[in-house]
Amino acid sequence: MDIYTTIASTIREKRKKLGLSQDDLARLVGVASTTISMYEQGERKPELTVLKKIADALSIPLAELINIEIPRDNLNIALRSQNLDFDEVEKVKDYISELKYQKRLKSGTKPNKMRARKEASKLLRELKITEAPVKLSVIVNYLEIDPIVGDENILKKTSAFIDLEDKLLVYKDSDPVVRKRFSVAHEIGHLVMGHDVKNDIFNIDSTDPREIEANMFAAELLMPYDWVKQDMQKHSMNIDGLSRKYWVSKEAMGWRLFKSDALLLA
Ligand SMILES: [Zn+2]
Repeated sequence: MDIYTTIASTIREKRKKLGLSQDDLARLVGVASTTISMYEQGERKPELTVLKKIADALSIPLAELINIEIPRDNLNIALRSQNLDFDEVEKVKDYISELKYQKRLKSGTKPNKMRARKEASKLLRELKITEAPVKLSVIVNYLEIDPIVGDENILKKTSAFIDLEDKLLVYKDSDPVVRKRFSVAHEIGHLVMGHDVKNDIFNIDSTDPREIEANMFAAELLMPYDWVKQDMQKHSMNIDGLSRKYWVSKEAMGWRLFKSDALLLA
C-alpha cells in the first residue's frame, strides 16, 4: 500500500468514527464534498496543506493521518520507501518539523500573559469602550470578523473556533449567552495574537500557551483589570454583582479574580 492509499482509508475511517458525512468534512476543510469523496477513493491526492486541514477537522495529528513510522536518523530513506518523490519528501519534512515545533510550543513555551492583556486593552482603547458590559458585536465588526452559527453536530466538542485566514468565527448558538461571550472573546484573542488554532477546544484550565493567552485576552477584554478593581474597591461589589454587570459567568469572574495572572487586591 502506498502512502495515499493509507491516507484515503484513514480519512474515511476517522470521519465515520466521528459520525461526520462527507459533506460535513468538506465544509470543515473548505473543499467540495466530491473532492472528499475522491480523496477517500484514492482518486485524488490531497495537497499537504489540505491534508493538514483534514487532520485538524478529524482532530488527529497530521502524522497519524500520514501514518509514517519515522526512524530517528533515517527520515529520507523512510520517506522514499513510501513512493514519494523528492518534492513530496521535502514537504513532508517541513510538516514534520512544523509538528515538532507545535509540540515544543505546547510543552515548553511560556504564555505571554502581559501581551494578551495589552492587546485586549489596546482594542478597548481604540474603540473607546469604557464600560461594562463590553459589546462584542462592536469589536467583531471593527476587526471585520464574520460570525456564523455553527452546526451543532460539528461543534460537539467545542464552543467556537476561528478561521484566521477568512476571519470566520463559528460559534455554538445553544450555549448560554455568558459562555458564548467568553468563547467569542477567546477566539478574537487567537485572531489578534495570530495563533493558528484550528478545531479549538475551549478549556479554561488548558496548559497550551496559546490557550492560556486566549483566556487571558478574553478575561481582560470582558473584565478589564482596572474596571473590576474599581468596582470591588469603590463599590464593594461581589462576584454575583460583578458577573451580572460584566455579563460573564460567575466561574469566569472567579477565574479572573483568583486564578488569572494577578490577584486583583494582592
Ligand atoms: Zn482556544
